[in-house]
Amino acid sequence: MDANTFDVVVVGAGAAGLNAALVLARARRRVAVIDGGARRNGAASHMHGVLSRDGMPPSQLWESGPAEILGYGVELITDRVTRIDHGFVVHLADGRALRTRRVLVATGLRDELPDIPGVRERWGSDVLHCPYCHGYEVRDQPIGVIAALAPKLALHLALMLPQWSSDLVFFPHTTALTPGEREQLTARGVHVADGRVARLVVHGDALRGVELENGQVVARSAVFVGPLFVPRDELLIGLGCEIDDDGWVRTDPTGRTSAAHTAGGACRPHALCAVRCENPYRRGSATRGLSAAAGTITSRCSATTAP
Ligand SMILES: Cc1cc2nc3c(=O)[nH]c(=O)nc-3n(C[C@H](O)[C@H](O)[C@H](O)COP(=O)(O)OP(=O)(O)OC[C@H]3O[C@@H](n4cnc5c(N)ncnc54)[C@H](O)[C@@H]3O)c2cc1C
Repeated sequence: MDANTFDVVVVGAGAAGLNAALVLARARRRVAVIDGGARRNGAASHMHGVLSRDGMPPSQLWESGPAEILGYGVELITDRVTRIDHGFVVHLADGRALRTRRVLVATGLRDELPDIPGVRERWGSDVLHCPYCHGYEVRDQPIGVIAALAPKLALHLALMLPQWSSDLVFFPHTTALTPGEREQLTARGVHVADGRVARLVVHGDALRGVELENGQVVARSAVFVGPLFVPRDELLIGLGCEIDDDGWVRTDPTGRTSAAHTAGGACRPHALCAVRCENPYRRGSATRGLSAAAGTITSRCSATTAP
């Protein structure tokens, strides 16, 4: 094998890609991992719910994870993959082309946030989206939920969050709640603050409240929003993978797509670090894919009920 030929090229060095590379390298595959640098939880100061890593800054995981795979001879390349040709040839932004028997696409997703002043600035600190990741840190505090880009998800969050705090206000913002939805919220003890949200009120590096367009400020120390989950699936689409009715690359339960297999947040929105690492062997169909006659792209998809 020449220097630019691999058994598996993994695109993306998030939790999914790094864990897959670890398993593949220990199975004595020649593996390269390519990463473009912007991991999804980059805005968070701490990660939670990951056994033995609870409370760890993500930056520490991004130091120790690569160190572990480098110990097994994995080649880690900092660059962006621009295209994958069937066969496979993986093209990098710097002009290099890597040949590989299999590709594992673990490129994750990006969170599209509502265009409300303050939301982007406070994202990952006191603007949150996942109660399982950060609900405990804001337990018993005055919490808000703003419905915007993903109103169904926001409603779901509002119905879950009383588990963490009884002081909960739902901001429908631009969403029209049905009478049934209002009833559900009331039954869970959630107050509804009608009217469009103008901005988040921030003082001294901390969220203080949610300001409505009528000037009323509802004091809150954390808010949850439902982002739009946008898969980073351009490489899979470029390979001709089928898309399902929800706009996600279609996979079977093992993560196989019409052209291949897939992994991580790129193929499903229910993406947590904990889930990405939980069972790389079951989801690591890369290992099986290498010995299969068919199968092209290998990536992983996992399921959880968490947002
Ligand atoms: C604010 C926030 C806080 C979170 N907190 C927690 C938590 O506490 N606990 C928890 O379990 N989960 C948490 N999550 C969820 C967690 O971040 C995701 O589950 C996890 O990042 C998904 O891993 P992944 O490997 O699929 O994707 P990512 O971590 O996003 O990794 C994908 C990688 O692929 C790379 N990439 C994409 N396209 C290309 C390309 N073309 N070429 C090269 N590289 C590419 C990206 O640069 C990135 O490094 C949080 C998410 C957010 C947004």
